[in-house]
Amino acid sequence: MKNRLLRELPSVDELIRNPAFREASSQYSRALLTEAARIALAEVRGLILSGEREEVPADEITGLVFSNIKAILRPRMVKVINATGTVLHTNMGRAVLSPEAVEALQLAAGFNTNLEIDLRTGDRGVRDSLVEDHLKRLTGAEAVSVVNNNAAAVFIALNTLAEGKEVIISRGEIIEIGGSFRLHEIIKKSGCVLKEVGTTNRTHPADYEKAMTDQTAVIFKAHKSNFSVSGFTSEVGLKELVEIGRKRGVPVIEDLGSGALLDLSAWGLPKETVVGESVSAGADCVTFSGDKLLGGPQAGLIVGRAALINRINSNPLKRALRADKLTLSALEATLRLYLNPESLPKTLPVLRYMTRGVLEIDAAARKAGELLKAALGKDFAVIVEDSESVVGGGSLPEHNLPTKVVAITHKTITPGKIFRLFLDNNPPIMGRVGSDKFMLDLRTVEDPRDLIPGTALKTAAGKM
Ligand SMILES: *Cc1c(COP(=O)(O)O)cnc(C)c1O
Repeated sequence: MKNRLLRELPSVDELIRNPAFREASSQYSRALLTEAARIALAEVRGLILSGEREEVPADEITGLVFSNIKAILRPRMVKVINATGTVLHTNMGRAVLSPEAVEALQLAAGFNTNLEIDLRTGDRGVRDSLVEDHLKRLTGAEAVSVVNNNAAAVFIALNTLAEGKEVIISRGEIIEIGGSFRLHEIIKKSGCVLKEVGTTNRTHPADYEKAMTDQTAVIFKAHKSNFSVSGFTSEVGLKELVEIGRKRGVPVIEDLGSGALLDLSAWGLPKETVVGESVSAGADCVTFSGDKLLGGPQAGLIVGRAALINRINSNPLKRALRADKLTLSALEATLRLYLNPESLPKTLPVLRYMTRGVLEIDAAARKAGELLKAALGKDFAVIVEDSESVVGGGSLPEHNLPTKVVAITHKTITPGKIFRLFLDNNPPIMGRVGSDKFMLDLRTVEDPRDLIPGTALKTAAGKM
């Protein structure tokens, strides 16, 4: 019986010759149609072999082909509602850009631009000059170089200034940032020799001084982005490192990671080292990310002394690591917002989310709570409660932001399952699971209505 049913199935070629696909054949390629048909026939065969179905009508098979076409053509990168409370969520693309940056991106994507043309002369220009004057103004540095991300910035700075030579770094600063950025590995891959000094908790000026030889090419200082040490600790400040380096003509590179361009304590946030402070303390090169606290696109920014930046820009690796036109367009627009710092909490989404008051979040959470109660039905318990959000992206690791969340529980469905139900929504809603409940944090959600799932969630929950 099963064999007869299987034999009666059309071949892939026969299936796509079905008149139902006449229109589709002009709309989609033969390869796409064939793939969709092949998957559909495999699905039907599976249904028959498992005994689940005895008969699959022809129009059901063609229907399967159409849904497979749709699945193949479905966009893979989709909008996800970030209700985790994490402002810079690396797995969700870190900084949300400002409308100004989005507009700039659209322009750079859809038109030719003066990316590398000097509009005064018509001659070839330098792409980094699009952001150079803003970055100089905002950091006080002499020159800038823009690359793909901060890992690339560290890599090219070290390769340029210390290839084949020694890089001195404190044992307390050999850090790992998520996603396989480990400083000692980057130093090795950049062709430099790592020379560790001091201990995990304490490093003194003499440790650096003793380690300096004629092979020393760079003193490296790394910001402890995602952790902190306390207790019996000491580290050598940047100013002192600069003094030690100057005595021997050895440059100091500081990797700031997060890259705050302004003092965040002006908005009640913890003080982070501001890039301009490192520059004025004498760092020869400072590297930082474009998409962390700066709130722009993924980019690696190197600012510092012109002589060194020029060498970095002439390194053949610069061609491999340079930022693309989309990055530069969004970065330029983001930096322009910094020239009007008073409005920044309104204009820069990252700063807006970090500084959002708990009262405002509470009002949004209450609204979302009401709507969720109505949407989910009485089997779910929905309450608004206090919680804490984090900045994320390796920024301000010690500082949690007080927030309000909508906490959701169910008699029988576990918080982990509720998490996945919300993720199944269109668009997916990403919350967090903690202390036996599922939570939606309103800090990073513009509109409470974004958190209301479609009816499919209630239906799916009903079947659990
Ligand atoms: C985040 C970070 C990096 C890596 O930056 P990406 O832009 O993610 O490549 C490097 N160093 C420090 C100190 C960081 O915080």
